[in-house]
Amino acid sequence: MSRVYNFSAGPSMLPLDVLKKAQEEMLDMGGSGQSVMEMSHRSGEYQAIIDKAEATFREIMNIPDNYKVLFLQGGASTQFAMVPMNLGNKSKVADYVTTGQWAKKALAEAKRYITANEIASSADKTFSYLPDVDKSMLTPGADYVHITYNNTIYGTHYNTLPDFGDATIVTDMSSCILSEEVDFNKFGLVYAGAQKNMGPAGVTVVVVRDDLIGNAMDITPTMLNYETHAKNGSMFNTPPTYAIYICGLVYEWIKDMGGVKVMHEKNVEKAKILYDFLDNSKMFRGTVVPKDRSLMNVPFVTDSDELNAKFVSESKAQGFVNLKGHRTVGGMRASIYNAMPIEGVKALVDFMTKFEKENS
Ligand SMILES: *Cc1c(COP(=O)(O)O)cnc(C)c1O
Repeated sequence: MSRVYNFSAGPSMLPLDVLKKAQEEMLDMGGSGQSVMEMSHRSGEYQAIIDKAEATFREIMNIPDNYKVLFLQGGASTQFAMVPMNLGNKSKVADYVTTGQWAKKALAEAKRYITANEIASSADKTFSYLPDVDKSMLTPGADYVHITYNNTIYGTHYNTLPDFGDATIVTDMSSCILSEEVDFNKFGLVYAGAQKNMGPAGVTVVVVRDDLIGNAMDITPTMLNYETHAKNGSMFNTPPTYAIYICGLVYEWIKDMGGVKVMHEKNVEKAKILYDFLDNSKMFRGTVVPKDRSLMNVPFVTDSDELNAKFVSESKAQGFVNLKGHRTVGGMRASIYNAMPIEGVKALVDFMTKFEKENS
């Protein structure tokens, strides 16, 4: 067996231990004589799997008791509509900060249902920084303010949460959930698609404060109402059973290594290796202002499109895959989520060092 170092932004690497455990349990889950994929979601065996996944997630992320954890479908993109439909029903106004493609999409979708105000944007510099925002910029009486906590494409991350006073903060944590400790009390709602840092595509986790459930607009489809899923333990209809099971294994993997705090320390160490190299290289440079750098997604460029292309193709031949940057940034992007071992980052930096020597 030979496995590559996969730097994909998502779907992305999963921990090898998780894949092995899934392989072990593939044909006969816990003596049930079935694969998890074949189980009735109404069975006791499956209920135990989803209950354990939720409990482990709550434990490692320290989710307060007055928040529901929902396992939903439709990706983070469906949350772009669910959030305004469910939370935007008092003043029908919300504020959005535009820090990338996903933030733009969230804003555009909200505008279909409510008055969504863009209070700040970093589009002027290709989203290479996070604009300063604070409570003085919020629309008085708005139902919530939406931010994208980690911008997957541009590699920015809120290293300090803006001071929005008492406003209800909604945030998209698709590409940083489980990478760091989070004080959920500061947020009304957090959502994250699984396929970046949590598990396979097909499940989206929503953490929502109890008082924000039950206020959906009348037009809200049953399936898009948080209340539907909160009342039914994410089992109103068939949930993405296998994806939830794998997420559960990932949560246990994190717990076994010492929890999210330890995970974060490892992520800091890994990202430092790459950023230190970029800051000292004469050929490569990071594209994001240092204070807003993400630990998860690291975009970088050379000054030549030709060298960028050469780097992507040669790195691929060496077993470093999916390093091509997003078309709006160009160059390269290394996504170094929880599952990327430190050896992978060190090997990448060794390869970059060699490439720089050979091509300058
Ligand atoms: C990938 C991503 C999305 C979109 O996720 P889907 O599951 O494909 O809908 C939204 N927001 C962020 C920050 C992402 O990284």
